[in-house]
Formats: sequence, structure tokens, C-alpha cells
Amino acid sequence: MSIQVFGMPVSRGVAIGRAVLVASSRVDVAHYFVPSDRLEHEVARLREARDAVAAELTALKRDLPGDAPAELSALLDVHLMLLHDEALTGATKVWIHERHYNAEWALSAQLEVLARQFDDMEDDYLRERKADVEQVAERLLRYLGRSAPGASEMLAPTVSGARDFAGEDPLVLVANDVAPADMIQFKRSVFTGFVTDVGGKTSHTAIVARSMDIPAVVGAREASRLIRQDDWLVIDGDAGVVIVNPSPIVLEEYRFRQRQSELERARLNRLRHTPAVTLDGQAVELLANIELPADAAGALAAGAVGVGLFRSEFLFMNRDGDLPDEEEQFEAYRSAVLAMQGLPVTIRTVDIGADKPLDRMSPTELRHEHALNPALGLRAIRWSLSEPGMFRQQLRAILRASAFGKVRILVPMVAHLGEIRATLEAVARARQQLDDAGRAYGDVEIGAMIEVPAAALMIDRFLAHFDYVSIGTNDLIQYTLAIDRADDAVSHLFDPWHPAVLRLIADTIARANACGRGVSVCGEMAGDAAFTDLLLAMGLRSFSMHPARIASIKQRVLRADTRKLAATLDAVMQADDPARESGRLHLGGQSV
Ligand code: PEP
Ligand code: MG
Repeated sequence: MSIQVFGMPVSRGVAIGRAVLVASSRVDVAHYFVPSDRLEHEVARLREARDAVAAELTALKRDLPGDAPAELSALLDVHLMLLHDEALTGATKVWIHERHYNAEWALSAQLEVLARQFDDMEDDYLRERKADVEQVAERLLRYLGRSAPGASEMLAPTVSGARDFAGEDPLVLVANDVAPADMIQFKRSVFTGFVTDVGGKTSHTAIVARSMDIPAVVGAREASRLIRQDDWLVIDGDAGVVIVNPSPIVLEEYRFRQRQSELERARLNRLRHTPAVTLDGQAVELLANIELPADAAGALAAGAVGVGLFRSEFLFMNRDGDLPDEEEQFEAYRSAVLAMQGLPVTIRTVDIGADKPLDRMSPTELRHEHALNPALGLRAIRWSLSEPGMFRQQLRAILRASAFGKVRILVPMVAHLGEIRATLEAVARARQQLDDAGRAYGDVEIGAMIEVPAAALMIDRFLAHFDYVSIGTNDLIQYTLAIDRADDAVSHLFDPWHPAVLRLIADTIARANACGRGVSVCGEMAGDAAFTDLLLAMGLRSFSMHPARIASIKQRVLRADTRKLAATLDAVMQADDPARESGRLHLGGQSV
């Protein structure tokens, strides 16, 4: 039977594929396809892990102290039995052979199937055995982790590479929640769409999904419970709807829409190298937001004239406390700079915290772990200033990369003049250290992100200390309206059209322009065509967004006349409902 699940659209387009359910706790498990000639090797890895776990359990049982409760020994017997049960390891082999999943992925897929069977059981005792299966699987996953092949041995998990042997069906990922750091691993993955139960439109998970330019729906509440492994799904990334096992007519309709959007995409792509100039001759800078150095090539290919936001924190995540040292960071920044072939690269200093924890925690886990509000805690520049050694190391790495091209430093979440002073001192100290060591570096502009209302309200004083500013609308909205951007329960209140938000943005742009300082918007509003006209009317001439959005925004810029737009600004800014007023004046386009 076909059902529909509603959530929030975060990345446009239509994806059609079979569901791959991934438990949130297991999204960090490696997901890649195994070529035919290595299937037996993969099965052998599973067998070795099983034998090792069996030996471990047997040893545990043997070494139980004489006075240990009899239940303990019985429990180990149950675990040993489960380990050899066809429903676990036997069925996992089938996933490897038939789907070409690597052993870890196959095991987690089978675990999902079993978990659901246990959940459906009437008998309480039997239902509780799910925990035992999970414990056994955890042990197996631990062993498999030790025998995991190096990255070069894995087949690059790209769609084209995988299709050679992994069956014909495209795959769609369904999870309760995915941490931003795990989402980044899916960047070059086989998945052609995403659905998560939780998350907001500008949560970092959604942002990474959008940067992958594949349809995604978040905040779909019950999705991971209602959808079953292998169900056919249509993800309507425009409407925020997931259709489970659609009828042939619905499927046909969506296939048609899919073809239409591919044609539209190809048409927009032709604008790639057209300069972004308005009808009245105003040049507009369209920059790219990237998460990893490898994204720079895509930015260039999409026609970006530079990187307006490199979210460097993705280099710091999931490293078990082993943060990247100066050399590793330098290599990463340099490779982005070289890839941009002389175009500017804006590197934001690490913005760890809030929904981007250092270790692997989903936003939901994070909220449960820390009762205090992480969005108001030690994040971004606050964290950097609390770790001066780490901060100077990052600054030295960025400065050194500037010897290879145009680099700008961007400081996130500044709110206090004291933070500005401390940051500038840290940069001066880093320069001094490089001078002392005889290391080269170039001229580097330093800018601040305006993403806290305090910074927007104090913009004149902030501008006196910085070469440029970049407005982070995602956080500016979060902090102005007191809405956690990652919380789907309040996502209906996350409103970029709120007059207070628009006023802070407009004032920041106007003041920066008046002082002759550069000003850009790098939050999600910059890549949303619904706001292009309005931002142009406010005087913005620099937008930074996911590479995939550049062509659409360029199309709007090419059709805009900034003189006419400026004349409409007052009406929108004075309106109680700026979105409606903007629609009445025929400004803007469709929002995602
Ligand atoms: C923002 O807050 O708008 C921004 C661009 O930074 P991030 O989304 O990484 O917090
Ligand atoms: Mg931000």
C-alpha cells in the first residue's frame, strides 16, 4: 500500500529509489560496494570476525568466576547461538552476495531487518532479545573495523562505479538522524536521496545534503519507522513529501518530473561561464560554500568566482580527539587554494559546537547528552579562543596557504569587542611566529561573520576592525528569533522573512557599503532565489552558496534591474508580512 510521509524540503528535485535504512548509531559504519572479484574476500572478513567473536565469548564464559550468576553463563550461550544463527551471519552473506554491500553495511542492513522483527513481537521476553542481537552485532562490527580495507582498496563509492555490479536500482538513505560529520561521508556516496526523521532546514545535516545537490527531506518524523528496507520511495524535494511504494501512475508522473528537472538543470548549466551582471550593469560576485578541499573543483566547475565560505570545522570532526595538526591543515587549505586557480578562498576558522560536535554525535544525541543549550555554549570563536594553541596552529596553516593564492580569514560568531581584540592579536602572533620561522605567507584580509544580533547592531564598531564582513543568515535567524535551527519542533518559526531579521541584514549591508567595506551573505538565504531580488535591493553584490545553486541565482541576477528593485525596498521593509509584499511586487522566486 502506498503511504505518504511529510517533512521539510531541504534540497530540491525528485529522487526515486529503494530505501536503505540506516540506524543513526550506525551511519558511521562504512558503506561501499564491493566488486564481484572481492565478494569472497568480504565474506571471509565476516567469517573471521564471527570466529574471533565466538572465541572471545567462549573465553569469557570459561573465565567466569565460580560464583558468577548462572544467568551470565546462559546469556553468553545465547550470544554464541545468535552468532551462528543463519538469521544473522547467514543472511548478512546474502546482502554481500546479492547487493555487493561491504560486510559492515551488510551486517547493519540485516540488523535493521531483525530489529523490526523483534519490535513487532508480542512476547515481552522475545522482544527484549533485540538487545542481545545488537550486542552481538556490535562485537562483530568492532572486529570488522579492525580488518577494514584502506581507503584506496575500497571502491570509490560513487554511483557510476557502483552501478557496474550493484544492480540497477538507485538507493535512497533513510535514517532517524544523521550527524553532519557522517553526512559528509555520504558526499560521494551511492545514495540519490535522503530522508531523516529529525532536523531543521538550516541544520548542518540539511546544509550538507543540499551541497550534495540531491533531493532530501528532513523532519519527516516517523519516516524511519514507517519505511521498510527495500521499499520503493519517491522523494519530492520540492514539496517535502516522501511517497512510499507509489502506484505506477504516481511513479510515472514523478519520472516525468525528474526528466524535466534534469533538462532544466542542463539548461541552467549553460550559464556557467556567463558573468553575473544585472540588466543595469551591476556586477555581482557569486561565490561557493565548501566543506572539504575536494569540493573546490565542483565550485570552479559550477562557475563560482571564488570560495566565500570554507567550513574548516569538517576537517576537525570525528577524529577521536586527534585534531589535525598545522601541517595537515596547511595541506588541506593549500589544496583548496590551488584548486581555485588564483580565485579567492575564504577560510572560516573552526566553527565547532552546537550541532557540529567534534566527536560523532547526532544533534539529537547531543541534546540528550548536554542538557544545556549547545547553540549558546562554547562554539565557534569562543571555542577557538579557549584553545589558543590550537587556534594559532590553524591561523598559521591558513596564513601559510596564502603564499599559494588569495586567501581570506573569516571569524565565526563574533559578538564581543574583546573577542575581536583577542582574535586580531592571535593573528598577529601567528604572523610573528611564521616570520621567526622564516615561513612565507601572503596578504590576508580578515573578516567577521555577522551572525549574532549583537554584531549586527554594533556593525559600525565591528567594521572598524575588519576588512570585510559576511552575514551568516542561518545563525542570525536562529539567534534573532531564538529558534534552534536544528530542531524540527520549532522549524515552522524559523522565518528568514521576519521583519527583524530583514532589518538586521539590510542595516549590515548598508553600513558596510557606506564604509566601503566588502559585505557578503553566506547563509542559506544567499542560495535561495526567493531572496535574490530583495538582497540585491538592499545593495548586496556578493553572494556565497552551494555550488549547485549558483546557476539558478545567476539566472535571477541576469534578469534583475537593481534600480527598480531598490525602489521597492521600503515597501517590503515596512510590511507586516514582507514575504507577501514581496510576492505582490513580483520579487523573488520559489524558495527552498
Ligand atoms: C550561517 O550561520 O549562516 C553560516 C553560514 O554558518 P553555518 O551555517 O556554518 O553556521
Ligand atoms: Mg553560522
